[in-house]
This record gives sequence, C-alpha cells and structure tokens, in this order.
Amino acid sequence: MKNRDLYQTSFVLFSILLIIFFSRSLLFHYWDFISSAGTFSHDNKVSSDEMNDTHADGEAPSDQEAENRRTQEDHNSPRILIDPGHQKIGDYSREPLSPLTNATTYRMSTGTIGVSSGKYESALVLQIALQLEEELSQRGYDVILTRYEQDVNISNKERALMAAEHDADLLLSIHGDGYQDSRIHGASVLAPRLMNDTREKQSGVFGTHLINEYSKSTSARNRGVHYRSHLAVLNWSNVPSVLIELGFMTNPEEDEKMQDPDYQVKMVQGLANGIESYFSSLDDD
Ligand SMILES: [Zn+2]
Repeated sequence: MKNRDLYQTSFVLFSILLIIFFSRSLLFHYWDFISSAGTFSHDNKVSSDEMNDTHADGEAPSDQEAENRRTQEDHNSPRILIDPGHQKIGDYSREPLSPLTNATTYRMSTGTIGVSSGKYESALVLQIALQLEEELSQRGYDVILTRYEQDVNISNKERALMAAEHDADLLLSIHGDGYQDSRIHGASVLAPRLMNDTREKQSGVFGTHLINEYSKSTSARNRGVHYRSHLAVLNWSNVPSVLIELGFMTNPEEDEKMQDPDYQVKMVQGLANGIESYFSSLDDD
C-alpha cells in the first residue's frame, strides 16, 4: 500500500516535470519566432536569407562615402543602387525591421556558403555586383554599390537608406540562396510587402521584369516573385526595391555553375536586361 502510494506520487511528479520541460521549450521556441522574424512567410521554402535577416555598426567606409557624394549631384540617367548582400562577418546585433512595425532583426547575417565551391555568398554576390556595375555603366546607367569590399559593417537598414541619400531610382539587392534540401535549385525575387503601398506594386513590376530576363538569360529555373515583410533592406528603401536570389549555393550543380565565368556573364546580362526592361515598361505608360 505504501509502495503503491510512493509509485503514484513519483509518477505524478515525473509527469509534472515533463510537462514543465516541454512547455518551456515550446515557449522559448515561440518567443524566438516572434522576436526574430516579425512576420514569417508561409511558403514551403524558407531560404537562408529569410531566416537570417540582417547587419553593421554604423560607420560607413569613407572612400565609399566620397564616391557616393560625387554621384549625388544631378543625374539624367537612371541611378541604380546595387547591394551585394551580406559582408565578410555578420553583425547579429539588432536594428528596426521596418518603419511599419516595432519589430527588430539582425543588422547583417554572414550569409550562406557554396556546398561545392566553398565560396562565401558575400564574396560571390560582390563579384557579380562589380560586373553588373560595369555592364550597367556601359549601358548608360548611373551605378552605386552599397559596398565595394568584403570587410565592412553596413546594416540592411543602412543600405536601404542609401537609396534616398544618393537619390537612386531603383534598389537591387543581390544574394545567393541556401536551403537544407540540396536538390532545390533556381532563382527567385523577393519584393517588399508594404500594406499595398505603391512602392510594393512598383517593386513587384520591377521584380517580374528582373526574374523573367534573368531566367531567360541563364536558363535557371524561374521561381517567381514573392512578397515579404521581414526584409529590412527592402522595407527602409524609398524606391522600387527587390532582392534577387541568383541560385542555390546549397545545390552542388548550381553552386558550381555560378562560379563559372561564362555563366556569370549570362547572370550579369540577365540582371541588366531586367533593369532595362523595367525602365522601358515605364516609358510605355
Ligand atoms: Zn543572402
């Protein structure tokens, strides 16, 4: 009788401990979710960039500032702000996610890494951004980059605000994708979800031109345009802005392809064609 009581009491105590343990971890999980993400997409794919929103501690490189000031005067041709995503070392302190909410997000994440090439996303996208700068300049555009080197600390919000600072007409943030399933491949565009603001619409139009031309030029799978509210680099901008995922660095074939100079020419041509196509669609109106 005594033994049975003891067993029963022990069982009850053990059950209570189990319940406390699991509800705590659930609670922590939920807390992490609401505090880090703000709004998460319900898409079947949440890429590395969507998981690790970003950024830096406020000091902009001075040579970059001079460069930016130089081009800040009147400009006749469209001015494109190109953002090579990430930086050599991420900054996981936080910054405001958007002018529309009180949520915060990482200033800048480190980004993904090529599963086959071993190359950092930040290095690949800088390489592409520099080639795109050259191509767009040849086509008569004004081009500014948010960063010209790896060793910087500039947050997503700070990058977005450069669009207004430098009177840009368009912002294009360039990224490489990452996902746990290495079979997933293709390119996609993320546009800001802004409560149906006109900038959301313009960004969507720009994104559609961009992804169509990019996938036409590269033959990469066209994964379309998706609207997201948790990307500070798009939220804080004042011009049509999109983020392109060039391809999956977690897919061995696509990762290798994106390192190939001939394929890079196709990528750069596709991006430039998309920008050009967007501006000519505005002329048609
Ligand atoms: Zn990225």
